[in-house]
Amino acid sequence: MTLQKLAVSLALLAALLFATPLAAMDPAWTRPFPPFRIAGNLYYVGSADLASYLVVTPQGDILINSSLESSVPLIRNSVRTLGFRFRDIKILLISHGHYDHCAGSALVKQLTGARYFVMDADVPVVESGGRDDFHYAADKSMWFPPTHVDRVLHDGDQVRLGGTVLVAHLTAGHTKGTTTWTMDETEAGRTLHAVIVGSPNVNPGYKLVGNTRYPRIAEDYAHQFQVLKSLPCDVFLGAHGGYFGLQQKYARWKAGDRNAFIDPQGYRSYIDDREQAFAAELKQQSDARRAGSHPQPPAPPPL
Ligand SMILES: [Zn+2]
Repeated sequence: MTLQKLAVSLALLAALLFATPLAAMDPAWTRPFPPFRIAGNLYYVGSADLASYLVVTPQGDILINSSLESSVPLIRNSVRTLGFRFRDIKILLISHGHYDHCAGSALVKQLTGARYFVMDADVPVVESGGRDDFHYAADKSMWFPPTHVDRVLHDGDQVRLGGTVLVAHLTAGHTKGTTTWTMDETEAGRTLHAVIVGSPNVNPGYKLVGNTRYPRIAEDYAHQFQVLKSLPCDVFLGAHGGYFGLQQKYARWKAGDRNAFIDPQGYRSYIDDREQAFAAELKQQSDARRAGSHPQPPAPPPL
């Protein structure tokens, strides 16, 4: 074993042994999942719920989402199982700067030398290891290794490698720089629009009204839904497998249905559902604030 291979093995072992975040985790986050080709040069290399994607090009590969530190050995195994080389990853992207999508980024960079591209508004979170997060800054269980960003992305920027183009859409709210990635895939002579949703979810405890650390949060969510509704989508994907029914669709894929992930209707339904959840939460918080500032007279006693 060469010294370099020994160093890689030790880094991966350390990731498995020591990188256990304190936050309660869904067991599906760390459950291995079979890697497979989704469409064109786009492959699934994530776990049963934490979605990671590999885009394979003649000039090297792109990885979307490093996930947890302990995910990195799983992702590496998936890449190898597909017949690709982990060290061919040249560019690392993320869905957003929460530890379940980016805690493994420092290790991926260390193992592959990949350059890390992150949306402008998530750069402070990523480079501070979560200590700059508008909501979770004080929660150490959400921290992760601070990671240097090599290229700062802006809304609409393209990431190009080996003839493949990915577009970064700012879909903020869940984090200030949540990014939805789109790319076109050619499958059986047909162009398919793939959308990897960054996260449209309002986490428990998020303050949508009067948020001093993120005053624009409600406007950003509203803008996100406008953007998501405007994107053409054939292949519906996202940062978590749960967004798009990974496990159910994979079962169909495995049974021979190569169109299992083509789901424009499922995409629209999901976005509508998440928009309604956001609107309901915003209304509840707005009503509560109004009631707080103008107390309602006590209800009359029942007659
Ligand atoms: Zn998140």
